[in-house]
Amino acid sequence: MLSQGFVKLFSQEQIARQVRRLGEEIDRDYAGRELLLVGVLKGAFLFFADLVRAISLPTEVDFVRVASYGPQCETTGLVEFRKDLEMSIAGRHVLIVDDILDSGYTLEALCEHLADRHPASLKTCVMLDKRRGRKTAFEADYTGIRFDSGFVVGYGLDYQEAYRNLPDVYLFDPSQTS
Ligand code: 5GP
Ligand code: MG
Repeated sequence: MLSQGFVKLFSQEQIARQVRRLGEEIDRDYAGRELLLVGVLKGAFLFFADLVRAISLPTEVDFVRVASYGPQCETTGLVEFRKDLEMSIAGRHVLIVDDILDSGYTLEALCEHLADRHPASLKTCVMLDKRRGRKTAFEADYTGIRFDSGFVVGYGLDYQEAYRNLPDVYLFDPSQTS
């Protein structure tokens, strides 16, 4: 059982519905093309696994690892690249898939970084969009669910590496856990 400090924000059913919708939109928008889906580790791993199965087009997958958060719940604005792509993206239709858009620093930096490699197109898809967290002009091309503010865990998202395996998404206040 979860202790105090967790408030359920989005259920797994709600998330699954949005994943299906995103898969349909992506199928429609990229019809006739081949997609390279780039997952941002670690937080996007569950969303990525669900999204790739909601897409019917031919896809290949690759991963990057980027860290922008320190050990606490505040974004630092410092984006560190810890693992690069293994595939060449030149001439390919690339869709970056991340867990959550907050300040926008991470995806902005990642897009700048990958744009230099001359993909045919480069777009982004996020499961969650924390509207009031934004500190850049960055917006995702595809968004699962929007919410205002607060620190969330579950469905791949962690607090100090814990809670990634929770099937639902929770607002989490670490100061309330005993
Ligand atoms: P940004 O660079 O947009 O501020 O943040 C992007 C990254 O910060 C996300 O990919 C995610 O890893 C982390 N992040 C942002 N907000 C949250 C949150 O509410 N909970 C968790 N667990 N991670 C977050
Ligand atoms: Mg992340």
